[in-house]
Order: sequence, then structure tokens, then C-alpha cells
Amino acid sequence: MLDVLIIGAGPVGLACALEAQRKGLQVALVEKGALVNSLVGYPTNMEFFSTPELLEIGGYPFPTSHYKPLREDGLDYYQRVATSEKLTLRLHERVLNLTGEQGNFTVTTDKGEIQTRNVVVATGFYDVPNPLNVLGEDLPHVSHYYKEPYQHATQNIVVVGAKNSSAKAALQLTRAGANVTLLVRGSEVSDSVKYWIRPDLVNRIAEGRITAHFNTTIVAIRPGAVDVLTPAGPLTVPTDFVYALTGYHPDEALLGRLGVEPDPADEARAPLFDPATHETTRPGLFVAGTVCGGRATSRWFIENGRHHAQLIAAHLAAGVLQSV
Ligand SMILES: Cc1cc2nc3c(=O)[nH]c(=O)nc-3n(C[C@H](O)[C@H](O)[C@H](O)COP(=O)(O)OP(=O)(O)OC[C@H]3O[C@@H](n4cnc5c(N)ncnc54)[C@H](O)[C@@H]3O)c2cc1C
Repeated sequence: MLDVLIIGAGPVGLACALEAQRKGLQVALVEKGALVNSLVGYPTNMEFFSTPELLEIGGYPFPTSHYKPLREDGLDYYQRVATSEKLTLRLHERVLNLTGEQGNFTVTTDKGEIQTRNVVVATGFYDVPNPLNVLGEDLPHVSHYYKEPYQHATQNIVVVGAKNSSAKAALQLTRAGANVTLLVRGSEVSDSVKYWIRPDLVNRIAEGRITAHFNTTIVAIRPGAVDVLTPAGPLTVPTDFVYALTGYHPDEALLGRLGVEPDPADEARAPLFDPATHETTRPGLFVAGTVCGGRATSRWFIENGRHHAQLIAAHLAAGVLQSV
């Protein structure tokens, strides 16, 4: 019987595992994909917004040759931390359900069952895209995930959204020779776009290298074109590929099955939990990392979410050690 099972081997799940293990608890991580699976799926040339010391977990230094680490640096760092701490990892195993109660939980996965006294949910937000809810969204030339620009040189690419991910994708695609049209529901490039990215995008739009339509809604996506409604009227944009980078949200169906109750007073449907311990309304079930913000996915990130680990580990250790 484990003392604690952590669901999700992202940066915060790893932090929770190593802090609990250092307190002498029996710990395992279960992860539906690869180690730090979200980072594996991020754009290939992604650069973190944070400086390396703000991404560190377990006190391991994160040395990089760049001011801002690259995705590969992060993948390497978290892998080294996980192996140095000899964390027990059950990778490519998806959690489906949770039954029982604190002290005697059964976690059902697609490979079997795991017995544990406590459970930490650190499942992040990157698996469920916010849908456009338009006709044609499920066509094969539409994706909610952007990796790299090179397959799109000389093609007509539509990028939907005007936050950081869309801004970076639009700029990279343009520089790799694609003809980019940015479709934006709001009236301008979002203020939340990082200060070193926003002027680059705004200037590329001003000089006409990127076509941008603001206050624009998508009517339908078809093979070869996107139909939109702009303030000047309907428009058809010739399109080879669409990147709908409109954000993501936690898997609410999974959270419901696990017994994580959303806060009815929070528009973002963040889980109800005790901020001192991160325990949810289901005793023995904890939340950590980005999932704590519900649909407000920028409320918690690695920089601040990694500190949930110490709170949870201290509380668990006190409880488990008392009970033996
Ligand atoms: C492009 C980009 C750049 C970013 N840059 C920064 C930055 O510079 N600084 C910063 O602090 N934050 C940054 N973030 C945000 C940061 O990456 C996330 O906040 C962070 O990954 C959260 O960590 P987490 O461990 O809570 O969740 P995640 O890293 O998302 O990990 C959750 C894990 O749970 C797994 N999982 C989900 N469901 C199941 C299931 N049913 N069973 C088993 N496993 C499951 C997933 O596969 C995943 O590996 C960035 C995000 C993006 C998209």
C-alpha cells in the first residue's frame, strides 16, 4: 500500500513526489504519457518565460547557457531530477477512476488498480483544448497544438487567437515562409502577450507581413478556406492549415470522477481545496499545480505551483506518521 499516489508527472507532480518521498513516505507517480508529458508536447523551439531558478524543484540547480531555458533544457532537467531522486514512475498508464476513502483508496487505471492511502491530482490543463465550436473544427487540417513551422513554408496558414502561443506561432510561421492570417475575436493583440513578443507581432502586422483581422469571428472551416465575419462583412480566407490556439482547460470529467468538487463561487470552476494543505473536500485527495486554478490556467504555473509540494508533503507526513 502506498502512502501517496501522484497523478501526473509534470513539474509539479514530480515536486510533490520528491518532497513526500523525502519525508519518508511510500510514493509513486502515475502518468498517462511520457515523463513531463506536457513539455514533450510543447512547441519544439519553445523558450520558457521564466528564468531557470524559478523552474527548479527539490533544490536541484537548473544550469542553462541561456537567460531563458529552452524546452529541451526543461525536459533534460526534470528527467535528471526524477532519476536522481529514484522516483517510482508508472508511465503511459492513464488514471480512470478513484474509489474508497482516505487510508484505503483504489485508483483504477487502464492497466490495473493501485492501492494508496492518499492521492494528489497534478494533471495540469494541456489535454483538453478550448473548442472554437464551429463547423469544420474536426477537419484534419485543423489543430489545437502547434509544434514547429517548417512543414508550412509558402502555405496559407490561419492562426486563431492573440495570446502568447498564437503570437509566437504566427511569428515563427511567418519567418519560415508561411503566409499567416491571424484571426482575433478581440480588438487587439492581448495585453498579456509578453513584453518582448508583443511589439514584434504588432510591428509585423503594421508592415503587412502578417495579415490580422480583429473583432472577427469564424463562421466555418472548410477544406482550403476559412469563412469569417469581420467588421467589414463576410470574408473567405484561403487556408491550407489552421492553428486554433485558443487555450486549454483541465479535464473536468476526470476531476469529477476522482471526486474533486469545483468551487461554485469561482467562474473558473477551480477545485475547492484548503489553501494551507491543498486537500479537497474529499479527505485524502489533494490538488497541486495548474489544475488548482480550474479554467484560469494562468493562475498557477511552474513558478508558483511547485511550492504546493511542500505544503502537501508536510501535511501528509504529519497525518501518516501519526497513524502508525
Ligand atoms: C508554451 C508554454 C510555455 C510555458 N512557459 C512557462 C514558464 O516559462 N514558466 C512557468 O512557470 N510556466 C510556464 N508554462 C506553464 C507550465 O508549463 C504549466 O503551468 C506546468 O506544466 C504545470 O505543471 P503541472 O505539473 O501542474 O501540469 P502539467 O505539466 O500539465 O502535467 C500534468 C501531467 O498530468 C498528466 N495526466 C493528465 N491526465 C492524466 C491521467 N488521467 N492519468 C495520468 N496522468 C495524467 C499529463 O499527461 C501531464 O504530464 C508554459 C506553458 C506553455 C503551454
